[in-house]
Amino acid sequence: MRIAILALQGAFEEHQRMLHSLHVETFLVRKLSDWQQPKDGVILPGGESTAMLRIMKDEELLLPIRQEIANGLPAFGTCAGMILLAKEVENDTRERIATMDISVLRNAYGRQLGSFFVDEEFKGIGNVPMTFIRAPYITKVREGVDVLSSHDGHIIAARQGKQLVTSFHPELNEDTRIHQYFLNMIQE
Ligand code: GLN
Repeated sequence: MRIAILALQGAFEEHQRMLHSLHVETFLVRKLSDWQQPKDGVILPGGESTAMLRIMKDEELLLPIRQEIANGLPAFGTCAGMILLAKEVENDTRERIATMDISVLRNAYGRQLGSFFVDEEFKGIGNVPMTFIRAPYITKVREGVDVLSSHDGHIIAARQGKQLVTSFHPELNEDTRIHQYFLNMIQE
């Protein structure tokens, strides 16, 4: 198995480390020729979605990435990565990958609660540690989207077909079960 990790900005190294600890091969994507390699899935990391989108457009990555995910390439978006995959962002109108039938709110927890940690139930896994950093949450899911986790009445993880998103950063803890969940999704 070989997983592409979008590496324009943000927490891509942590995802790479996590996948290597699970003995999965990875490669980093910074430009179109990187992206054009064979792959079994893609990780869109956390960071700053606005910066990532700007670079994706400059590097002409946005449309090819959108096309492959729309055609069924498994994708896992964490935090900013979730914003990239959402069809609607309530407080941002920038063009995105927009392949998943969810609405999200950017920086949903406000300034006071910029970063925090919880231990919350994740469907099919049990309680997992979750680190939030200026995180978005999901305000709406449409048909075909399965809610996997909620915190304080807000949806923080969901799946639609081969797309998985989390508001939090599973790559910042030692727990590998969410990454393993994504790998299982690929093999289903
Ligand atoms: N606030 C960031 C954004 O809007 C997301 C934060 C993160 O990925 N940790 O893109």
